[in-house]
Amino acid sequence: MQKYKKIKDHLSERKLELEGLLNHVETSARKKLDKDFEEQAIERQNEEVLTALDNSLNEELEQIDEALYRIGNGMYGNCANCGNEINERRLLAVPHTSLCIDCAA
Ligand SMILES: [Zn+2]
Repeated sequence: MQKYKKIKDHLSERKLELEGLLNHVETSARKKLDKDFEEQAIERQNEEVLTALDNSLNEELEQIDEALYRIGNGMYGNCANCGNEINERRLLAVPHTSLCIDCAA
């Protein structure tokens, strides 16, 4: 029953970390600054970087939520696509994955 406790702890920790990062990104993105033209151009570039970062953080967060849900209902460890058991080493390396190595490839 507690087979995935370590992974669950790890995912929960990572989730907190991601939420912290997202907060930080959103605060930075919301800052409206009075700057000269050149600095505004740099700002806009930063905003694009932040948006991309925001998207990838949100994506990982979603996957983590799903993995935690799957641990909760006992589905975790089986591939969401083919149903085969996911290699434990893969789970440890990419704990938020829901696909076995064949389906992810
Ligand atoms: Zn599969």
